[in-house]
Amino acid sequence: MYGKVVYACGICLLTDNYKIYTDIHMKIDAMKHRGMKSLGLALLLLSTSSIFAQHKEEMVSSIVQEANANSQLEKYAFELVDMIGPRLVGSPQMQQAHDWVVKNYNALGAQARNEPYGEWRSWERGTSQVTMTYPRIKSLEGTQLAFSPMTKEKGVEAEVVAMPLFSSQSDFQSWLKTIKGKIVLIGMNPLSGRSDANWKESASPKGYEKYQTLKNNQLKKWEASMSYTGSTRRTLPLALENAGAVGVIDSYWTELPGITRIFDAKSKQIPVFNVGLEDYGLLYRMAEHGVKPRVSLQGNSKELGTSKTYNSIAEIKGKEKPNEYVVLSAHLDSWDGASGATDNATGVITMMEAVRILRKVYPENKRTILVGNWGSEEQGLNGSSAFVEDHPEIAKNIQVVWNQDNGTGRIVRIGGSGFEKSYEYISRWLQYLPEEFRNEIQTSFPGMPGTGGSDHSSFVQKGIPAFGLSSTSWDYGKVTWHTNRDTYDKIVFDEVKQNAIIVAILTYLACEEPTLVSREKIILPIDKDGKQTVWPTNLQSKRTSGN
Ligand SMILES: [Zn+2]
Repeated sequence: MYGKVVYACGICLLTDNYKIYTDIHMKIDAMKHRGMKSLGLALLLLSTSSIFAQHKEEMVSSIVQEANANSQLEKYAFELVDMIGPRLVGSPQMQQAHDWVVKNYNALGAQARNEPYGEWRSWERGTSQVTMTYPRIKSLEGTQLAFSPMTKEKGVEAEVVAMPLFSSQSDFQSWLKTIKGKIVLIGMNPLSGRSDANWKESASPKGYEKYQTLKNNQLKKWEASMSYTGSTRRTLPLALENAGAVGVIDSYWTELPGITRIFDAKSKQIPVFNVGLEDYGLLYRMAEHGVKPRVSLQGNSKELGTSKTYNSIAEIKGKEKPNEYVVLSAHLDSWDGASGATDNATGVITMMEAVRILRKVYPENKRTILVGNWGSEEQGLNGSSAFVEDHPEIAKNIQVVWNQDNGTGRIVRIGGSGFEKSYEYISRWLQYLPEEFRNEIQTSFPGMPGTGGSDHSSFVQKGIPAFGLSSTSWDYGKVTWHTNRDTYDKIVFDEVKQNAIIVAILTYLACEEPTLVSREKIILPIDKDGKQTVWPTNLQSKRTSGN
């Protein structure tokens, strides 16, 4: 009977679509049994394509309902962000995080594994203590940088000097001779510890303008001076170590009070610490005034040799096309100045929640759903690049990759990554999102292929349709990105829930799409020097830390 309807609509029913058709058939039967004859009959009048659409809409509403009724996001976040905490490459906590991911995906009925791809120096953070010991005692807000050498048990105590502005390389070289036995402040001490927004709101227009001018001039002079050192803020500590300094203090203010970025140290022997702007300024002014302040640095990290690096991979085999893949991508590692809540625990729990929802409402996934929770994104997209390099058999059969990695905000931008036909399928799939989600999403097609930034680039570079799902900012750059404040309390759960729904819907639709989508690339533009831009191929996995 239903077959007749299909023919009456004049739409050829391909074998690929047979299952959808059968599902609808069964669904309508079930409705009839529930006494919904009129709805069943009304459906008969619809064309096949609208019946398919209706089926998809039902699935979408089941996804939304499950996300709202049974969200596990807060539980996942507590376990990952609060209990495991920061996830620095090579650290024991990173290993715990990998094991946690695998345990959860297995519990959801996926097949999960930790897949080794290399090794890295294993460094475990301990406590950090920074104390000003002269001219008065004060505990300072300070943190040992990742991979910084530990100090002796009692710490290292010395006079603090501030690095001056240099006017030449020889100027820098002669200053190096003065720092033996000293702890050196290597960051610029900003003119004001107030945020720009605060200045704009409260200063007179003239006062604000003056502040901007002074701020820009200070930065220009600092950058010129740094250029004479031949180093960056990351490599400078090693030069100071070689000149006899006993410790280094940096400050990497994000322009909001109390918030500072905490990266890694490249020194070999001496400790490198970050001190928050407010305490840093205190030391800086004292040093400049000739007070000769003294500080004790104590950092009791552990060196644990090397450990293997992994990607956590979860797969739910496709029931019709097990060798074709829809990939959910979010890096698991983080910097360790805080607990990596928005970079990128939110991405990880979004994917986990999307899988939880899909397992419940879409157990008959046609294609294989593969989740990649990558290692070592922060050192250069290493885990995801290694995965693409190691799995050509998967890479050639990937439908699409959805990557999320820019904070807790709701997804509002999707670009086409330079794939010519991306507008066609992504726009079509976006139509199924709940209206209030869809209306906020700006698309840019065909977009440009990424050269880095996050893990979708590892796939795009190999010509695989991979897309970054970009979020609203929530002041990501100044509040949480690689800072000492990227903590659980910054997660906005309603927005993460929205993202889990979006990912689940887009994954479902990519699984259902009759064929693999086009991989046709755009012709890239001519650059400003008149040269043809070529598709990026700069990414390559780094499989050892090299020290
Ligand atoms: Zn990230």
